[in-house]
Amino acid sequence: MKYLIVLGAAVLLLTAGCAAQEETSSPTVDADLGASREGSRTDAEAVSREAEAISPDGLTAAQQRELLARAQNYTFQTEVNRMMKLIINSLYRNKEIFLRELISNGSDALDKIRLLSLTDRDVLTATNDMSIRIKAEPEKRLLHIIDTGIGMTRLDLINNLGTIAKSGTADFLSKMQDVETSGAQEMNDMIGQFGVGFYSAFLVADRVTVVTKHNDDKQYVWESDANSFSVAEDPRGNTLQRGTHITLHLKEEAADYLQADTIRSLVKKYSQFINFPIYMWASHTETVEEPDDEPAPADDADEDAQVEDADDKPEKKKTEKTVWDWELMNDNKPIWTRKPSEVPEEEYTQFYKSLTKDTSAPLAKAHFVAEGEVTFRALLFVPRVQPADSFNRYGTKTDHIKLYVRRVFITDEFNDLMPNYLAFIQGIVDSDDLPLNVSRETLQQHKLIKIIKKKLVRKALDMLKKIPADEYEHFWKEYSTNIKLGVMEDPSNRSRLAKLLRFHSSRSESMTFLADYVSRMKPKQTHIYYIAGSSRAEVEKSPFAERLVRTGYEVLYLTEAVDEYCLSSLPEYEGHKFQNIAKEIFDLEEGEAARAQLEEYKKQFEPLTRWLGDRLGQWVTRAQVSRRLARSPAALVATVFGWTGNMERLALSNAHQKADDAQRRHHLTQKKMLEINPRHPVVRELLRRVQDDPDSPDAALAATTLYRTAALRSGYLLQEGQAVEFAEAVERMLQTSLGLPADAAPEDEDFEADADDAPPDADADVDADADRDEL
Ligand code: ADP
Ligand code: MG
Repeated sequence: MKYLIVLGAAVLLLTAGCAAQEETSSPTVDADLGASREGSRTDAEAVSREAEAISPDGLTAAQQRELLARAQNYTFQTEVNRMMKLIINSLYRNKEIFLRELISNGSDALDKIRLLSLTDRDVLTATNDMSIRIKAEPEKRLLHIIDTGIGMTRLDLINNLGTIAKSGTADFLSKMQDVETSGAQEMNDMIGQFGVGFYSAFLVADRVTVVTKHNDDKQYVWESDANSFSVAEDPRGNTLQRGTHITLHLKEEAADYLQADTIRSLVKKYSQFINFPIYMWASHTETVEEPDDEPAPADDADEDAQVEDADDKPEKKKTEKTVWDWELMNDNKPIWTRKPSEVPEEEYTQFYKSLTKDTSAPLAKAHFVAEGEVTFRALLFVPRVQPADSFNRYGTKTDHIKLYVRRVFITDEFNDLMPNYLAFIQGIVDSDDLPLNVSRETLQQHKLIKIIKKKLVRKALDMLKKIPADEYEHFWKEYSTNIKLGVMEDPSNRSRLAKLLRFHSSRSESMTFLADYVSRMKPKQTHIYYIAGSSRAEVEKSPFAERLVRTGYEVLYLTEAVDEYCLSSLPEYEGHKFQNIAKEIFDLEEGEAARAQLEEYKKQFEPLTRWLGDRLGQWVTRAQVSRRLARSPAALVATVFGWTGNMERLALSNAHQKADDAQRRHHLTQKKMLEINPRHPVVRELLRRVQDDPDSPDAALAATTLYRTAALRSGYLLQEGQAVEFAEAVERMLQTSLGLPADAAPEDEDFEADADDAPPDADADVDADADRDEL
């Protein structure tokens, strides 16, 4: 039987431990193992001795008096009170998570002592055992959770179980208050993201006792009814050797948590992947065969079974026996050490859920062994949803990779194993090649860490690339910004990341990968064309895209703020350079005829382009005949290194650009180039007029207006004074087009006639205020 084998192992461990422990007469949890091994006591004895051993209520009257006399009372930090109130008010439908939290604390405490033991064997002198044990006492409505972890000193007790020091919990608090009034689903999501911790014990208990022993201090008893807490030195002395024993005095309605089956299923649901054994004190029936000399009593009114028996030789007597023992409830062989082919998908999902507290299955996973310069195993996951505020914290936290060395948990705080843009990836790395007996700081500096990171990133990008098409849509919605930031921040993986990019395009309603764009390129096309703007509708109407789209070129539509920065940091895709069609150097691969035609236009419109260059000299570098315009008369084009209209708007809103003010002004005042459409009637007419009379006031007005409409069409904002002048010019044209004289002015208003409507005097004002106050 499984648990017996485990028990055997535990006993071995115990005997292999220190002799001192065997000698101690203190009633401890471990003593039970010793007792079971002897097998000499009756079941009833086992139960009663066990109860005595670990119940804190088992204090003698004298000890209880002593405890009371020694106890120092404390009040909880205000935040703790708030936290407890929140937990109790919002998690009443989710009470069961208390067990997950307490087991997780036990596991954390065991991780800590194990880590210390790597550099200092002596920390395990008190006991070698590293386990979590759960015991229910239904008669007393007590539930015990005991670990042999690091324990807490007196100061730890006061600080850790009386204040909220961690920023994570503080975060949680403020978040909870934000959603306090919103739905239960949101609340569940919040719980998903944060562990609510120790105080969740009060969901099910009205009193909690914590007995704890740290190597550096005596054994202490902490107790609380959720209003205040007390701490006292334990009058029984050191009974735990090391670790923490939590006793929950369960509320009446929480009695279900005393049932072995309930506990088993909760451990399975939330804690099956804890890397330390979790035992429960449980009974089972065993059938024991005993050699029997007496023949079975013959009975004529035999049941069938006995009739059969009668045919056989006298059988050995079978007796059913109830046996109490520590039952192992989890398989603590880490999932990542198993062969991927032998782990069912469902187990990965469950592991992911217990790792992240996410409620839905991951979007993608990768389980692999990396070999070469360094050997390590890793298990990576992509959560289905990225927390909404991830980008507010971008670069401040922290990856979500837990580092293990030879199955020993080292840290999840290196923040060095994934770059910022992949911080959403959750997982575990376990390497045999890293040294165990060095400090965390030394380990963090270890040269292999860099190599592990490099490989992890590659594997993570592989994993993303393998997301099937139907899931990729979702992935892209959730993580597109991460990938684009990756293109900007991670030059060494730029081409890998480029394969993950998707953009809107003039060719299709759905988004397209760059590879698909390239496959559709025209035979002589060498560049990938794109235009950026704030929406698909806007860029579709952009003057720059007009002629290209009409002549059958595909144009990518960049509609996210970050897109234009992303592509400007990507030099090429599979040999094809990118061309922002709102910028200069516009290489349109056209035939000879088109080239000749352009030369022709250039010559024909030279008088106009020169005239415009002079007239508009304060705003534009020059004017030239355009190859990109079809319907618009003119457009404003940025220089190669200048900002497009889209970039300018982004810079003004300062969304993604941290350019200082001086630099910004430099860009905003930088001149652009005016391109004119030689086929447009307005442009042709303007050429005629300029050739007629270069000083014509109509032509001058037309030139400035043309420039300003071009600026607007091209996505630029008009600088302060220009907007008003532009409006006035348009209004004047409006008058003309309505058949009014251009100089018609609004009628004058007779201000004198309105004297009666003058505002009330000061006294009246005061009275009005007084009236309002009375209301
Ligand atoms: P968290 O586990 O996220 O730090 P908790 O509220 O669960 O927050 O626990 C608060 C702190 O109390 C822990 O960080 C730890 O220092 C201490 N603690 C709780 N349970 C134990 C335990 N079983 N053994 C040792 N320390 C513990
Ligand atoms: Mg915790």
